[in-house]
Amino acid sequence: MPELPEVEVTRQSFADRIAGATVGALRMGKPLRWPLGCEPQQLCGQRVRAVRRRGKYLLLDLDDGLLLLHLGMSGSLNFALQQPQPGPHDHMDLVTDLGTLRLHDPRRFGAVVWAPAEQSPQAQKLLGHLGVEPLNGGFDAAAFHAALRQRSAPIKQVLLAGDIVVGVGNIYASEALFMAGIRPTLKAKKVSRPRSDRLHAAIIAVLSRAVKQGGSSLRDFVSAEGKTGYFQLEAAVYGRAGQPCRMCGTPIRSIVQGQRTTFFCPTCQKN
Ligand SMILES: [Zn+2]
Repeated sequence: MPELPEVEVTRQSFADRIAGATVGALRMGKPLRWPLGCEPQQLCGQRVRAVRRRGKYLLLDLDDGLLLLHLGMSGSLNFALQQPQPGPHDHMDLVTDLGTLRLHDPRRFGAVVWAPAEQSPQAQKLLGHLGVEPLNGGFDAAAFHAALRQRSAPIKQVLLAGDIVVGVGNIYASEALFMAGIRPTLKAKKVSRPRSDRLHAAIIAVLSRAVKQGGSSLRDFVSAEGKTGYFQLEAAVYGRAGQPCRMCGTPIRSIVQGQRTTFFCPTCQKN
């Protein structure tokens, strides 16, 4: 599943190239997770002003409103001057004078939704519950700890919920908790301030590194420039059950929490 770093890498790969483009057509394929919310012709002649990211949504600011794009479980975006004929899994072509942005999404959990404004109910239905962004300077260590104090669920699941801080998906939660030396099963409210501060720093470090390296989680993840991500190859614990911890040599353990697999080192991550 594409996680925040992949979505950010995708954004960086075409944001500058599509900025200022004029939409010639929006062609939708098979139904995606939600309806578009407007007539596709309504977008014709509008300019793409900028491409922003909020959580795992890409926001294409238009002259009138914005398009919210989500990659779902298996989506990828490709922006190119010329695109081949759409295949059976290509479900959106945003045709502009600078190129065509194509959504390829075999499992169709992705989304393309138009909203009149970011603060409109249509957009807030998708964005309203999102926690703070981890990478733009607004992620505050004291506020993070205060929020954790309110939760009795295991810290790993609180991170995955995304309503305190966005973007800490399954891989990155395991990696950040390892880096901070915190057992994933520890109740969030039991995380002390010094450990919460280490976790705060680890989340920023793990996600920044993944963005720098080009994203990761989907094995066949390819950015809109065609580069493949590779962060997972360097994971400290994720996907390494039974292999020796890179810090202490103890075999990495895996457990299931909320139907997601968690990886940790029982020696380096003591409660
Ligand atoms: Zn260890």
